[in-house]
Amino acid sequence: MNKDIRENKTVLITGASRGIGRAIAYKLAGIYDLVLCCKTNIQTAEKIKDDICASGGTARVLQFDVSNRQSCKEILEADIQKNGAYYGVVLNAGIVADNAFPAMTEDDWDSVLNCDLGSFYNVLQPLIMPMIRRRKDGRIVVISSVSGIIGNRGQVNYSAAKAGLIGAVKALAVELAKRKITVNAVAPGLIETEILNENLPIEEILKMIPAGRAGKAEEVADLVEFLISKKSSYITRQVFAINGGLC
Ligand code: NAP
Repeated sequence: MNKDIRENKTVLITGASRGIGRAIAYKLAGIYDLVLCCKTNIQTAEKIKDDICASGGTARVLQFDVSNRQSCKEILEADIQKNGAYYGVVLNAGIVADNAFPAMTEDDWDSVLNCDLGSFYNVLQPLIMPMIRRRKDGRIVVISSVSGIIGNRGQVNYSAAKAGLIGAVKALAVELAKRKITVNAVAPGLIETEILNENLPIEEILKMIPAGRAGKAEEVADLVEFLISKKSSYITRQVFAINGGLC
């Protein structure tokens, strides 16, 4: 726990109940007041919150579906009303629904676009004016993917959503730069989490990774910690690949 460098600032993390989001939560614990967001795994999210609070950090849990525009607006606006505007946001929640394009269903397409790309609007739009009104520095980090940069077989939906996030990040960064709010994307390669599924050709992908291994969620969290920190104040509109050389 990083109690010696505590900042009196709030950071919201979506998808904090598992994988990369959970690693980010533990990495930022004790430095920032955390808002841990989840969709289904509320008990796991509460356990992470309890761990963080037991170690001297501060955290609370919000449960909502990032695909659901109305509940994002209601829950986030209520949280800001009660606790104040956020300093930072890590837009991390995401899903896959992999299939070769000819077999890709409407639901495969809609669910991934609504969650992975739709969350950019659904989560960030209600937060942004309160962030601006703080009149202080701010940080937005969006978790994209190597799939959004190079495209990936069986992931036309996911690649489209993750590429869309990169465009949205770059445009929002331009809008917010003078407000001292930085907006950057992180594009992980293959990271060991539950999102990896039997449809992904893991052995084939491993052959393409010069480092010869999958990455760890904690390695992504290290990068996010830097991008959320005050040390990254002159870095905005960028995409940071973290992929063991896969490109
Ligand atoms: P994960 O282990 O499957 O965890 C996904 C997280 O997102 C969970 O906390 C889940 O919450 C949350 N989530 C999913 N759908 C949601 C929704 N509709 N509303 C709210 N929360 C939702 O995935 P991960 O590997 O950590 O991935 C995190 C991010 O990194 C994703 O955006 C993913 O696309 C990206 N990424 C991952 C890899 C990789 O290889 N792992 C590579 C590149 C990019 P609940 O548990 O509460 O349902």
